[in-house]
Amino acid sequence: MNILDRYHAMEYGPAPEARNEADAWLAARDFGKALFIGGDWKAAAGGKTFETSEPSSGKLLAEVSDANAADIDAAVAAAAKALPKWSAASGYQRAKVLYAIGRAMQRHQRLFAVLETIDNGKPIRESRDIDVPLAIRHFIHHAGWAQALDRDFPGHRGVGVVGQIIPWNFPLLMLAWKIAPALAAGCTVVLKPAEFTPLTAILFAEICERAGVPKGVVNIVQGGPEAGVAIVNHPGVQKIAFTGSSEVGKIIRKATAGSGKKLSLELGGKSAFIVFEDADLDSAVEGLVDGIWFNQGQVCCAGSRLLVQEGIADALIAKVKTRMSRLRVGSPLDKNTDIGPLVDLTQLERVKGLVAEGARQGAVCWQPDAGLPSSGYYHLPTLATGVSPANILAQEEVFGPVLATMTFRNTEEAIELANNTRYGLAASVWSENVNLALHVAPQLKAGVVWVNGTNMFDAACGFGGYRESGFGREGGREGMFEYLTAKLPLGPVIKPATMSAQPVEQADGAAIDRTAKLFIGGKQVRPDGNYSLAIATAKGKLAGEVGLGSRKDIRDAVSAARGAKAWPEATAYNRSQVLYYLAENLSGRAGEFAARLTELTGATPKAAREEVEQSIERLFLYAGLADKFEGRVHQPPARAVTLALHEPVGVVGIVAPDASPLLGLISLIAPALAMGNTVVAVPSERYPLLATDLYQVIEYSDIPSGAINIVTGRSAELAGVLAKHDDVDGLWVFADAETCAKAEAESIGNLKRVWSGNGRGIDWASDQAAGDAFLRRAVEVKNVWVPYGD
Ligand code: NAD
Repeated sequence: MNILDRYHAMEYGPAPEARNEADAWLAARDFGKALFIGGDWKAAAGGKTFETSEPSSGKLLAEVSDANAADIDAAVAAAAKALPKWSAASGYQRAKVLYAIGRAMQRHQRLFAVLETIDNGKPIRESRDIDVPLAIRHFIHHAGWAQALDRDFPGHRGVGVVGQIIPWNFPLLMLAWKIAPALAAGCTVVLKPAEFTPLTAILFAEICERAGVPKGVVNIVQGGPEAGVAIVNHPGVQKIAFTGSSEVGKIIRKATAGSGKKLSLELGGKSAFIVFEDADLDSAVEGLVDGIWFNQGQVCCAGSRLLVQEGIADALIAKVKTRMSRLRVGSPLDKNTDIGPLVDLTQLERVKGLVAEGARQGAVCWQPDAGLPSSGYYHLPTLATGVSPANILAQEEVFGPVLATMTFRNTEEAIELANNTRYGLAASVWSENVNLALHVAPQLKAGVVWVNGTNMFDAACGFGGYRESGFGREGGREGMFEYLTAKLPLGPVIKPATMSAQPVEQADGAAIDRTAKLFIGGKQVRPDGNYSLAIATAKGKLAGEVGLGSRKDIRDAVSAARGAKAWPEATAYNRSQVLYYLAENLSGRAGEFAARLTELTGATPKAAREEVEQSIERLFLYAGLADKFEGRVHQPPARAVTLALHEPVGVVGIVAPDASPLLGLISLIAPALAMGNTVVAVPSERYPLLATDLYQVIEYSDIPSGAINIVTGRSAELAGVLAKHDDVDGLWVFADAETCAKAEAESIGNLKRVWSGNGRGIDWASDQAAGDAFLRRAVEVKNVWVPYGD
């Protein structure tokens, strides 16, 4: 054997991380008093505990207090008690506390990393080099936001007491993503870690004690779904921030409907890893190792679908297999380990079941020829080829070390395949041609896109999903908005439409009968059901009849809105000019609209004229802002820039109020249109003739067909149809409280973004009823990471 042979034959020796400090910490703690409430350590009120064990051996680590509803009551009460002082503290005072937390975590960095690895099973290299440093970075970054609130978020204040529920895959990092922005915003928190991984949160609570966090500002309760449900339903909580599965996210969306609680959901994913034929294949393979085998694939944004261009598929797969054969599966505390155990036996069984089902559905599942440790919940890295787009491995989130591979021929097909999922969390695009990568990135329905990279995160850059991956962002400026509130000028309580219905007297027959139709796909169309709704003047006479829109009409309108590609693809300058032109044309008919307002609402001619003028002014405002509400460029501590792009939400349903029927409608459709959304509007049920007059103006204002559609009829019923329609991406509802609550509850099919007035109107005439608060709801922020350098 020559020296080269010897070199190649050399095996890695074991390089275990010492665990004695962690074991000493475990031995010293009383886990029967593990609830950190109001600055004290408490046992669970019901006296119950749950077990947490070590995934690499199955051995019991601790029996931890299991909170019930009474404990959650106590934690919320403690958070509420601490709120006034904390929210009134100066930004500087809060910044000092956040900074102290970050620094104290740094001093105990190794203990955090070892505990995380012992409890979760993730390789120590990952907890040591990624999870813990990133968690610290979040606290230090958010210290800055605490002091910058007045500068960057004028008129905003913390939302109040926040309930936060996190999963087990990044226990400390998810805690940091939740607690740091909340404290910076002046909120107090009740956080519940996942029941598989309670330990680092307990250590974190100790850090809070040492870092001088005032009692009750941070409360950490341990437990499972029962405690989670109690947090979600607690009336003393003003916001829920949840990270976990889409399934539970939907339950929470439904449970909080109508409660007025602010909600952010960071859910599952099935992210595409797209490799074009001009990619640097060796880099792409390394990217894949990180993309799908980081944390054993138990990563919400795991690149679990490899989409590879046909011409290079064989070469890439061969390289992937070679690399997989070298992945080291073993003790997570060994510094050379690439793949540790899954978190729990149930998770292992679930992954095995999905792989077996994928194979049954035709996938060819390949694993390297490697042994597994004799105990622990290990699963070999697995490559599935021959995966059809409908295969369970291509559609379901496996949350394990399983990569599903598909091929594509050209760019269009790659985009189509990538978007063929109900999720929309992240995507990776690999190409040496940055033009191609930046052409593809905006077309991917995902909240984060990494160009020639993967799993890049930073506290300054928003992270979060589209579609069923949830809504809201964590990190940076967008993330801060999730914990802040700015009151819009409130209007009156909105009564259910039936309560405000008026009897209608017949017309005198002097005028020519005119039928107002629906406006769908740029055309005036009769309602599918061929029913009409009589509309009364202020004096109770028949003003006209409008079509009674139905489910079918909404379906047609949504499909027209989805098909109206010219609008979202138009330049912002182009949209701006069209909105200016609409304002110009409305201005030309101002007198007519004012007369209509007076006739229908009984407004004085002066008040009616004012509403029309304000409507024109508002159109002008959004025409001007169409090319000004732009994204940002972040500079994370990496050789990369992150482009935070503002993209349209998509198809937005708008249920407009009766109050200020022209101004209210325009105040909602104009910002949506300005940002490139296409709209299905249900105008005021009582005064729809203003909207049907408006479409005549729309018709000659150069708005592309389908960009705006108007369906008249019963608001509550049509709001329900829009809420349940899975091709509607956003829904803004200004209706009575019951209609708003139902719209939120019924939106769970595709987790569309619902903005509801919760039964209250807005004072549309106020200058504050316009601007960024509306534009922010009209966009999704997509963070595109573009690395640079050789
Ligand atoms: P899970 O939804 O089962 O549980 C998450 C948390 O919710 C746990 O703390 C659990 O105790 C609690 N919970 C369960 N049922 C509840 C209920 N009815 N009401 C309130 N709380 C309840 O998810 P998991 O298995 O712990 O985590 C894996 C999931 O998390 C994956 O789908 C993954 O993609 C997702 N995830 C998403 C992100 C993101 O940022 N988008 C990050 C990490 C993980």
